[in-house]
Amino acid sequence: MANNHNEGTKFLNSVLQTFDYAASFSRLDPGILAQIKVCNSVYKVSFPVEVDGKIEVYEGIRVQHSHHKLPSKGGIRFSMQVDEDEVKALATLMTFKCAVVDVPFGGAKGGVKINPRTTSVKTLEKVTRRYAAELIKKNLIGPGMDVPAPDYGTGSREMAWIADTYQAMKYGETNAMGCVTGKPVGQGGIRGRADATGLGVYFGLREALQDTELLKMAGLEGSSMQGKRMIVQGLGNVGFHSANYCQKDGAIIIGIAEREGGIYDENGLDVEDVFRHRNETGSILNYKNARNFEDSALLLEEPCDVLIPAALENQIHIGNAERIKARIIAEGANGPVTRDAEKILLGNGIVILPDLYLNAGGVTVSYFEWLKNLSNVRFGRMGKRAEEASHRRLVSAIESSSGKSLTTAEKALLIQGADEISLVRSGLEDTMINAYHEIREVMKQKNIPDLRTAAFLSAIEKIGVSYEALGIFP
Ligand code: GLU
Repeated sequence: MANNHNEGTKFLNSVLQTFDYAASFSRLDPGILAQIKVCNSVYKVSFPVEVDGKIEVYEGIRVQHSHHKLPSKGGIRFSMQVDEDEVKALATLMTFKCAVVDVPFGGAKGGVKINPRTTSVKTLEKVTRRYAAELIKKNLIGPGMDVPAPDYGTGSREMAWIADTYQAMKYGETNAMGCVTGKPVGQGGIRGRADATGLGVYFGLREALQDTELLKMAGLEGSSMQGKRMIVQGLGNVGFHSANYCQKDGAIIIGIAEREGGIYDENGLDVEDVFRHRNETGSILNYKNARNFEDSALLLEEPCDVLIPAALENQIHIGNAERIKARIIAEGANGPVTRDAEKILLGNGIVILPDLYLNAGGVTVSYFEWLKNLSNVRFGRMGKRAEEASHRRLVSAIESSSGKSLTTAEKALLIQGADEISLVRSGLEDTMINAYHEIREVMKQKNIPDLRTAAFLSAIEKIGVSYEALGIFP
């Protein structure tokens, strides 16, 4: 998989440099640190698919970064940019992301080089199923092995195809539905997964905006969402829900950038209406009284309180970092700020809420979905007492196999099973709030100047403890 632009390599280097810097604050054995850093396995596959009577060859990849906890977990990306280093960087981030929010999984990521926007649904289904089959054949997917989820270019539809392919190939296997998360609600999914990443971005940002010390660092006043001026890049799953939740809580969305261009209105844009407009007209441009930005990258440079990059990696780089005027950068996407750019931004007093914390809402709710699938019972189906007793047994089984106590919200999710959506949301809210304060505590204790290094360090220490407790085989 050749990478024409070296974007993937740049991204991987950024992640590894951040790891090295954070690791320099750790007292873990250098050998353990080296093991925590590397990708454990990379599986590349090429496979044929018949498209309109002709055979086309597709390339796919699955990287499992860490097996310190099983299953490994991470999305599948469909994009023409997919390459080995990009997927390695994303898989690496997943390991640390899971650790930051105490989700007991290792990190993984997969991708297929395909443009989902120009490919027919029929071909997408064939490619998804064949890619899944290639991984299933090698035992690279499974509820206790490696559990994919949606990522850039994929969604619940693709996850349903993967679950169905898995069930067809592993007919009758217990817990088979837990082989993938982000499924449609009627197909073993969980309510609240679709907007989970965006809601997590909102919860994380809300917490940061109540942190007076952090606001002082950013040079911002007024400790709430109310009236904060925000620019969002990406109106996909993450960007749309992040912007929408912030707007509902009083933020003013002054700019939205997309592939085809950007729009700006200092009086505020109605996110849901912009979304409708884009669906109807095929473009975000020419929205009511908003100003058009033909070059959407320039929109990121407009003054605002919070910039939410929620599209792809390497969007804020050495070439534009100096011109960024936002006071807080809230990373909805994975890796939107390069390491070089980060130095410039921090130097200019801009606070960055890092991806591995801020967009961890997706994998947190994936964890809830997986737990639900393992219980093999639809919440609310059995008699209340029997259901609760069965879920209590599940809580004990999970706690004894993982050696860790579940949080109150996680237990409630399993035991009560009543109002799924509110349990999911409160579990996510608790998770984002707790993780925020844990990172801030590490920042203070170790005298670390930025949240990303603190989040990495906190994750590295947790993973290190796992490795030390497991010992080294043989
Ligand atoms: N693809 C999402 C991420 O980057 C979600 C992963 C998951 O739910 O496993 O965090």
